[in-house]
Amino acid sequence: MKLAMIGFGQAGGKVVDRFLDYDDRTNSGIVRAAIAVNSAKADLMGLTNIPQENRILIGQARVKGHGVGADNELGAEIAEEDIDEVQNAVDSIPTHEVDAFLVVAGMGGGTGSGGAPVLAKHLKRIYTIPVYGLGILPGTDEGGIYTLNAARSFQTFVREVDNLLVFDNDSWRQTGESMEGGYDQINEEIVRRFGVLFGAGEVGEGQEVAESVVDSSEIINTLSGGGVSTVGYASEDVELNTSGGLLSRFTGGGGGGNDGLDAANTTNRITSLVRKAALGRLTLPCEIDGAERALLVLSGPSEYLNRKGIERGRKWLEEETGSMEVRGGDFPRQVPEVSAAILLSGVTNVPRIKRLQQVAIEAQDNMEDIQSESQQNLESLVEDDEDELEPLF
Ligand code: GDP
Repeated sequence: MKLAMIGFGQAGGKVVDRFLDYDDRTNSGIVRAAIAVNSAKADLMGLTNIPQENRILIGQARVKGHGVGADNELGAEIAEEDIDEVQNAVDSIPTHEVDAFLVVAGMGGGTGSGGAPVLAKHLKRIYTIPVYGLGILPGTDEGGIYTLNAARSFQTFVREVDNLLVFDNDSWRQTGESMEGGYDQINEEIVRRFGVLFGAGEVGEGQEVAESVVDSSEIINTLSGGGVSTVGYASEDVELNTSGGLLSRFTGGGGGGNDGLDAANTTNRITSLVRKAALGRLTLPCEIDGAERALLVLSGPSEYLNRKGIERGRKWLEEETGSMEVRGGDFPRQVPEVSAAILLSGVTNVPRIKRLQQVAIEAQDNMEDIQSESQQNLESLVEDDEDELEPLF
C-alpha cells in the first residue's frame, strides 16, 4: 500500500524519516511521499532522509522557530493558523498515486500532540482517501504534563482520523539505555511492524506474487469503521544453506534443504507464530477479545508460507477475538525470516488508556491546585501584613 506520510513534531518527523530509511533498505515502496512539520527549526534540521523542501516550519510568527514547549493547545493553534503552508507541501504529492495518508506524532509533546489532529481534520475535509493516524503514547515516567497532553490528544486524534494506530513507548522502553539510544531501537520496532503490514500487497519488480495476496483494499477494509488499532508481531530466523537456498530453524532444519520442508510442520509453526504475535507484546497493550476486525499478514520466503497455515491462523484469531471479520494473506519476501504481523482494529478493552486518563485527570487537578495556591502565596508575599504600603500605580 502506498502512503503519504506526514510527521508532525519531533517524534513524528523522526519516525517518518526512519520509514524512508526502511523503504530504502527493504525496497518495500510504501512511502510515496514524506513531509515533516514542526515549530522547532532545530528538529527539522536534525532529520536525514526527508527532502529539505518537504520540511515545513510553522508558527514562526508566534514562537520564532523555537518550538511550543510541550504546550499542545499552542501546538493546535499554530497548526490551524499555518495550515496553508502544510497544504502547499501536500499539494506537491501526486495524491492519485496514494492509497492513504498517515499522520505520525508523539502525543505527549506540544507540536505533534496538538497539530496532528488539526492536520488530520483538514486532510479529511479535502481528500477522499483515508487519513490514518499513528499516535505514540509517552512513557509513564515522563511525568504529568506529558500524560495529560497525551490523554487530550488521544481523544481528539481518534475523532479526526479514519483509524488511530497506537504505539506505546511505555511497553517498549528499556531500562539502562540512554533516551536517544532507546528511541533509536523503539523507532526501528515501529517501522518494522508497520512496514511489514503496509508493505503487504506492494509487489515490486522481480518479486513473487503471493498465493493469497493481501491487497491494500484489505488493509483499508480492516481499518475502516474507525477506532483504535494495535499491531502484534512475531518472527523466526531462517538461515541460508550452503546450496544457496534457505534452510530454516523455523522448519526444524534438517539436511534436505527446501525440498525437505514438511507441509504439516510448516502449518503448525505458522500457527504458533500467529499465536505468539497476538498474545505477545502489542504496539498498544490490550485485550484482543472484542477487537472488531483483524488482518493477518504472513511474510517470508514463499517456500515457508502455506495457505493452510494462514487459514488455521485466521480461524484461531476469529475464536480469540470473537470477530467475524478476520482477513489474512501472505507477503512473500526473500528475507532470512518468517514473520506474522497482526493488525487488530477497533479494540476497546484497553486498560492502559484508562490508566492514562486517570493519571491525566490527577495531573490536571494538581496543576489547578498548584496554580491557585501559588497565586495566593504570591499575593501574601507581595502585600504587607497591615496593608500599609501603596503600589506606585
Ligand atoms: P513535539 O516536537 O512538541 O511534538 O514533541 P516530541 O515529539 O519531541 O515529544 C513528544 C513525545 O514523543 C515525547 O513525550 C516522547 O514520549 C515521544 N518521543 C520523542 N521522540 C521520540 C522518538 O524518537 N521516538 C518515539 N517512539 N517517541 C518519541
